[in-house]
Amino acid sequence: MFVVALTGGIGSGKSTVTRLFAQLGVPVIDADEISHELTAPGQPVLNEIRAAFGDDVFEHNGSLNRARLRERVFGNVNDRRRLEGLLHPAIHAEILSRLAATDAVYAILSIPLLVESRHDYPHDRVLVIDCPDDIRLARVMERDGLTREAIQRIMAQQALRNERLKLADDILDNSGDLATLQARVTELHRLYQQLARARNPG
Ligand code: ATP
Repeated sequence: MFVVALTGGIGSGKSTVTRLFAQLGVPVIDADEISHELTAPGQPVLNEIRAAFGDDVFEHNGSLNRARLRERVFGNVNDRRRLEGLLHPAIHAEILSRLAATDAVYAILSIPLLVESRHDYPHDRVLVIDCPDDIRLARVMERDGLTREAIQRIMAQQALRNERLKLADDILDNSGDLATLQARVTELHRLYQQLARARNPG
């Protein structure tokens, strides 16, 4: 299976782009979604999170208080690494199992924090969704109703644009309109089909 890792900063358009690939019939696996599922009530990793971070990051009913956990690891690299260390083996195993279950020629693996994470994710190519900060700010303010400062704080925690671009095999500029984006996705889809077929002829 040929795997395209898709990444980009907050509000760059990752969800929009993965939706467009999905509409073309491409299987999309989302690392954030898997992480969310693995920390749903009753999941075994919750015991490890409780042992590492205490009762503070849990609700009285035993479910994870995601906002509090996020706040806790936000400004603290050690805590963030610790949480990643707990979650990553399970996320990795789930990604491999989902990839094994698809029979398409290639798949998209969405990993918002590909550049920031020290962990390896299986991939053959990296697609970076790129969009200038001011456009991302405006789009996220409109989408989430967050303040400019709140979004800038999240941006400051994320990798710089240059670090992300250094990793890219392909760059998808999402500063234009949706029709332009769709055309570029269709182009990339053809390229990935070709690359995947070249890898696995027949
Ligand atoms: P996050 O990092 O917060 O998960 P994201 O990278 O998944 O965000 P999207 O949710 O896809 O980004 O896009 C951010 C917002 O911008 C959404 O409201 C989306 O509808 C809008 N948007 C994305 N691309 C375009 C575009 N080319 N033109 C206009 N609006 C866009």
